[in-house]
Amino acid sequence: MAPIGGTAKTKKGILERLDAGEIVIGDGGFVFALEKRGYVKAGPWTPEATVEHPEAVRQLHREFLRAGANVLQTFTFYASDDKLENRGNYVADKISGQKVNEAACDIAKEVAEEGDALVAGGVSQTPSYLSSKSEAEVKTIFRKQLDIFVKKKVDFLIAEYFEHVEEAVWAVETLKTSGMPVAATMCIGPEGDMHGVTPGECAVRLVKAGASIVGVNCHFDPATCLKTVKLMKEGLAAAKLKAHLMAQPLAYHTPDCGKQGFIDLPEFPFGKILSRWDVHKYAREAYDLGIRYIGGCCGFEPYHTRAIAEELAPERGFLPHASEKHGSWGNGLSMHTKPWVRARARKEYWENLLPASGRPYCPSLSHPDNWGVTKGDKELIQQKEATSEQQLKELFNKQKFKSKVVA
Ligand SMILES: [Zn+2]
Repeated sequence: MAPIGGTAKTKKGILERLDAGEIVIGDGGFVFALEKRGYVKAGPWTPEATVEHPEAVRQLHREFLRAGANVLQTFTFYASDDKLENRGNYVADKISGQKVNEAACDIAKEVAEEGDALVAGGVSQTPSYLSSKSEAEVKTIFRKQLDIFVKKKVDFLIAEYFEHVEEAVWAVETLKTSGMPVAATMCIGPEGDMHGVTPGECAVRLVKAGASIVGVNCHFDPATCLKTVKLMKEGLAAAKLKAHLMAQPLAYHTPDCGKQGFIDLPEFPFGKILSRWDVHKYAREAYDLGIRYIGGCCGFEPYHTRAIAEELAPERGFLPHASEKHGSWGNGLSMHTKPWVRARARKEYWENLLPASGRPYCPSLSHPDNWGVTKGDKELIQQKEATSEQQLKELFNKQKFKSKVVA
């Protein structure tokens, strides 16, 4: 068995590691994990947890580090100033975007010091872009977060969760002015971005804008994300461009998704989670496809991250600390009292298991909402006031006609 703990605290940079052929393991989904623990609200995804509950954010970073993550992303998803004053949000007024972003950097840096992990400052899609604001206005929003990442000396930057390549390119161009390495991931599937730009073309534009690492995150399950990254890889090869590849999929099964991904599924954001065994399969397939930055997004808990580290332990030569309490492929079950559970202490059992849904009246797949509302549409325009009762009523009505939700 591979030794536990890995290499010494080298603190090589992200590109140094990837250029040397190392596997870099990303962390998991903070907003979903913290929402389940009671520190984040589904909807605005409240990044102010870094100020309101720093101990919860710190503990989750620690768990991902212990599970084998080499990168700790600052908990700054949806922490842009325009998002923090959107639809009745109090954070911009009462706390300030600056404090939320600074605290996120401090916490991630503190925990990263406890192991061989890098800190990545992250920006994501803005309400300003979806409200059709100008390139200059959107870049100003990114610039505010970037200034804090530079001041706090993070190790590299990630532009993640973009549905429109145009905005992703603006983010990369802004982040690139810092001189730090930039990774860029879009939340798109094989059909491409919301303007119909193919994954291959998206990857080309991101690399031309200055990204050294490109790929996808969120919105789709591992299998779909790998299909998309494969298309990106082919697009880059055709354009004779070089970049490292990255995947941070959902820990949800989403074979029923359309172009808009899992946010269109009626169960979003409270869906059906991947098992650790599903993640073993994902890690192996991502590796075989040539992806060397392998992480997760929404739904990925520390035990999913540990599954990546355990699957790739033969290549990496070591296991994460959290494997001290986890027999590979369930072999700890050999100590179980019940003989039929002891009989499950083997890889073949878990690899071939088809788990039941546990819901006898449910269809096996669901219907995406397919509203097709995107950038520039009236219902996406940013507003400072909370969503009104009237606005909600209109949406409830629209849902009755548009969506096939079982009552
Ligand atoms: Zn996500």
